[in-house]
Amino acid sequence: MTLSAELIATEQRLGAHNYKPLDVVLTRGEGVHVWDSEGKQYLDCLSAYSAVNQGHCHPRILAALTEQASKLTLTSRAFRNDQLAPFYEEIAALTGSHKVLPMNSGAEAVETAIKAVRKWGYETRGIPEDKAEIIVCANNFHGRTLSIVSFSTDPDARRNFGPFTSGFSIVPFGDEKSFEAAINPNTVAALIEPIQGEAGVIIPPPGYFRRVRELCTQHDITLILDEIQTGLGRTGKLLAEEHENIEADVTLVGKALSGGFYPVSAVLSNSEVLGVLKPGQHGSTFGGNPLACAVARAALKVLVEEDMIGNAERMGARFLNGLGSIRSNMIKEVRGRGLMLAVELDPDVGGARPYCYALKEKGLLAKDTHENTIRFAPPLIIDEKQVDWALEQIEAVLTGPIS
Ligand SMILES: *Cc1c(COP(=O)(O)O)cnc(C)c1O
Repeated sequence: MTLSAELIATEQRLGAHNYKPLDVVLTRGEGVHVWDSEGKQYLDCLSAYSAVNQGHCHPRILAALTEQASKLTLTSRAFRNDQLAPFYEEIAALTGSHKVLPMNSGAEAVETAIKAVRKWGYETRGIPEDKAEIIVCANNFHGRTLSIVSFSTDPDARRNFGPFTSGFSIVPFGDEKSFEAAINPNTVAALIEPIQGEAGVIIPPPGYFRRVRELCTQHDITLILDEIQTGLGRTGKLLAEEHENIEADVTLVGKALSGGFYPVSAVLSNSEVLGVLKPGQHGSTFGGNPLACAVARAALKVLVEEDMIGNAERMGARFLNGLGSIRSNMIKEVRGRGLMLAVELDPDVGGARPYCYALKEKGLLAKDTHENTIRFAPPLIIDEKQVDWALEQIEAVLTGPIS
């Protein structure tokens, strides 16, 4: 039995089976590459769902982590720490935000935004108690907490987890008429992903977000963009909203905010929404801790200083172009923006999972999503040669027989 096989057997025996990972056990990562416990090298084309945009174990983020870890890690927000203010300053300057609320996981940032925007609706819009409504989109992914799965349309995310949180109105993604029709006097917010990542990299039609933005402004609705996956360079812009030429009122970031070292998320607010929260009304023991802030500051710094966002745009174009020129009757559609890419296979092919295993054999790790789609989202530091190598492996797997 290989070491990997032993570790997998133990995981299966002792762990809850709430994931079905590809059977590869990773022990080391550096840049765009990871290595398994038998020493085999892979090109990582998932980047931990875009948490590792800066590449694995980025040396400058690592240095910030170890330096801060040896000084001060956690104070709780009962006291102040010297990393929080500079983190606020730097992320606010970078994103043009007026207020910041730091949390840990992405789901916590989403929960925070929902709480704040409801309170804002009652206190400033005068919405009757418990009547606030938030418009969300079908096939959304915003996390796994109960309130969040309350407005999921994925049966697996919801089945037997009720009773659910009410106050959400679900409309089709990319359909401005349905969005407009869902608005009523109790609508406080819209919560939308700029590109639906987990749904399979679904890009909305041009003009959709412009119209959504207009409608939100017109009806005094807070537009919350969940940029936890699309943000921080993934699509070739700092925030994906820039592709749409709009600005959200509230932006959620997470994942790559720490370069994969540590869970750090934040609610960024352009409006007065976060101002409604008063002491004691919301918080988190670890939110805004000095270690998280130091890591996030370094993660943002390298993203900008090492031109990872520009690289994502250039390498994304090359990758998308390459995927588009693969001639294979297995491919139904190729989609992408920046380095957030997907190949949707023909449903007759019988699912994307076997192709992910075939790619793994060739040394490329990618993840299937929604049965027939393979997502490609390498770290933003990928270079031309690595993109071309990835394309060769993908072409071989999608044009040849798989074992
Ligand atoms: C990953 C993700 C989340 C949830 O983040 P967690 O850190 O897993 O809680 C929320 N929204 C989007 C768009 C995501 O991709």
